[in-house]
Amino acid sequence: MEYNGTVYRPPIEAQSFLVPITEGCTHNTCTFCNMYQGIPFRMLSLEEVEEYLAQAQGAGASACHAAERVYFVGADPFALSAENLLRRIELVKRYLPKAETFTMYARVDNVARKSDQDLRALKDAGVDDLYIGVESALDDVLLYLGKGYMSGETFEQCERLNQVGILHCDLLMLGAAGKGRGIESARAAADLENAVKPHKILMTTMTAYVGTKLDNDIAAGVFVPAGETENLREERELVACLDLPGREFWAAHPLDVVPLRGILGPDTQDMLDDLDYAIEMIDETAVNRVARRGSM
Ligand code: SF4
Repeated sequence: MEYNGTVYRPPIEAQSFLVPITEGCTHNTCTFCNMYQGIPFRMLSLEEVEEYLAQAQGAGASACHAAERVYFVGADPFALSAENLLRRIELVKRYLPKAETFTMYARVDNVARKSDQDLRALKDAGVDDLYIGVESALDDVLLYLGKGYMSGETFEQCERLNQVGILHCDLLMLGAAGKGRGIESARAAADLENAVKPHKILMTTMTAYVGTKLDNDIAAGVFVPAGETENLREERELVACLDLPGREFWAAHPLDVVPLRGILGPDTQDMLDDLDYAIEMIDETAVNRVARRGSM
C-alpha cells in the first residue's frame, strides 16, 4: 500500500499497532504546523486498509494476534463519518482479533459533526483516548493559531465525549500566547482542563517550523515568542493550578526542554520541584526555541 506523507503519532502510542486510515489533515491551516503541507486529505479505501493489514499479518502474525490497542494514523482520522470508522474498526478486528481500543487524533470539529448516537456507537466499538489539539484556552490565541475553533467549542465537545464515556487526551502548547502571557495562558488552560477532565494532558512547546506562518511572523516581528524560562514558568503555573487528581500529566515530547511525566496529585510536588530547579538553572542562550526547524 502506498502512503502519502509522514506518519506522526503521539510518543505515548509507541507500543500501539499503527493502522493508517487517512492521509493529510482536513484543516491544514494552523499557523504553527507544517506536518501535512502539500498532502491533501484523503480517506484510505477499505481495500487499501485491508492490503496493509494483510501485509502486516504476513510480516508478523503473532504481533497481529497479540495487538490489543490500535492507533489510527492520520492528522484527524476522526473526521471520517461514524459509519466509515466503524467499517474500518470491523475490518481491523478481523485481522487483529484481540484489538479492543482504537485511538487517534481528533479535531474538536470532528467531534461536533457527530451525533450522540454516533459517539455511543464508536465508544461501543472500542474508540477511546482521542487526542484533542486543545493547544490554548485563550480565544485570541486560538484565533492567531488558526485552529478553527474557540475554547467554548472545545469545552462543549469534550463534555459530549465525557457524557458517552469516550476518554480524551488533551494536547496543550506552552508558549502559544507569546512573550509576557505565559501565566495568563496557564491559568486559562487549567480552568478549561479542570472543567473538561481529560484522561491525560500532553504538552508540547511552541516551535517555529520552516514554511509556517508562525516562522514568518517571528522573523517579521509580528509574533514575539516567549523564552524558555517563561515557558517553564507557564508550565509550573499550569501544574500548580490543575485539580485533576489521578490524571496523567505528560510533558516529555522532544520539544519540551524539561521531560516531565507524572500522576497529578501524588506526583504534583515532584513535578513542581523539577520545574523550580530547571527555572533556576536554565541557560536561555543554550536553548534557542526560535531556531527554525525543518519538521517535527
Ligand atoms: S496542528 Fe493538527 S489540525 Fe492543525 S494543521 Fe497541523 S495537523 Fe492539522
